[in-house]
Amino acid sequence: MNTFLPFSKPTIDEATIASVADTLRSGWITSGPKVLEFEKQLSAYFGGRPVRTFNSGTCTMEIALRIAGIGAGDEVITTPISWVATANVIIEVGATPVFADIDPVTRNIDLDKLEAAITPRTKAVIPVYLAGKPVDMDRLYAIADKYNLRVIEDAAQAIGSSWKEKPIGSFGDFVSFSFQANKNITTSEGGCLVLNDEIEATFAEKYRLQGVTRSGWDGIEVDVLGGKFNMTDIAAAIGLGQFAKLDAITAQRRKLAKHYFKTLGKDFEMQTGAQLPPAEFESTNWHLFQVVLPERIARPDFMAKMKEQHNIGIGFHYAPIHLFKLYRERGFKEGMFPVAERVGKQIVSLPMFYAMDEADVERTCKAMREVLTE
Ligand SMILES: *Cc1c(COP(=O)(O)O)cnc(C)c1O
Repeated sequence: MNTFLPFSKPTIDEATIASVADTLRSGWITSGPKVLEFEKQLSAYFGGRPVRTFNSGTCTMEIALRIAGIGAGDEVITTPISWVATANVIIEVGATPVFADIDPVTRNIDLDKLEAAITPRTKAVIPVYLAGKPVDMDRLYAIADKYNLRVIEDAAQAIGSSWKEKPIGSFGDFVSFSFQANKNITTSEGGCLVLNDEIEATFAEKYRLQGVTRSGWDGIEVDVLGGKFNMTDIAAAIGLGQFAKLDAITAQRRKLAKHYFKTLGKDFEMQTGAQLPPAEFESTNWHLFQVVLPERIARPDFMAKMKEQHNIGIGFHYAPIHLFKLYRERGFKEGMFPVAERVGKQIVSLPMFYAMDEADVERTCKAMREVLTE
């Protein structure tokens, strides 16, 4: 049988490994010069906006909510189809998560439904760019302006994506990225937050490290309750090596996505009943290549057959958040977001990573067609 083809795999080059080794030998392994350099390069990429790094993408969203002053009594609207972190951070700061159903084509939050879910208590929205595909950013910010809402963009999957040729993160309100192992660029675990000004950036630094400021009479003062969210120089060394390849990584993923469409052919949807993602190549970084299976196919069976008969790993992103026990206990139930429930049950992620080649795409397409039509 063919070698195992996972749905995702990080590629760390030898120069990056050498840089990590240098850091380990340097005697400075926590936050230091590598973190500062990584933040500097990220800021330049995001058009000079302030950027701070952290030890996860999740905490960047929690910190953005805290900087925005969002807490008890406030509602924050997000999508049910995301990693559970997106909604958990809303609960973490004491606010109330509100969901709006998704658009069946983009699989992102439906902005009409988002607008309809706004109440006088709504203080912020957290749109998610699933698979790296942005929402309609003009419409998003028009809604935010109209209702005076803060936006925390969950761009965890969207580094390298763009809107009207502007990189995601180079405009807007708070923009959060993840560098978790499976993301397009990684620090093993980590994240960064793009902020609006130096005042917010100072708050981000405080929340990142126990609320410590350096301005007290004895050189140290604590005036807000912070946590322990700083990135290490070991992680930043990985991040710098990865970031240098961002354009190549994005280009390779776009090439692979194009090859998926070409190999599956334009009759694939009609022949199998499966639904492909929008064929959009310039704005999305193709973090994932996701297919929604037809109702007659049970996802666990599909995944098992791809693994057992073809040695191909298939992922799924994501189960609807509102149906997890924690959320059911808060009053959410089946039937509330029918599009998210249908897509969340049938969506799968095909192999998509930098080190893959076109033969891997062809192998996956052939296997998928076989499993779907047998
Ligand atoms: C990865 C991811 C997160 C969380 O990022 P971590 O770095 O794992 O904390 C949040 N939202 C989405 C959409 C993600 O893909």
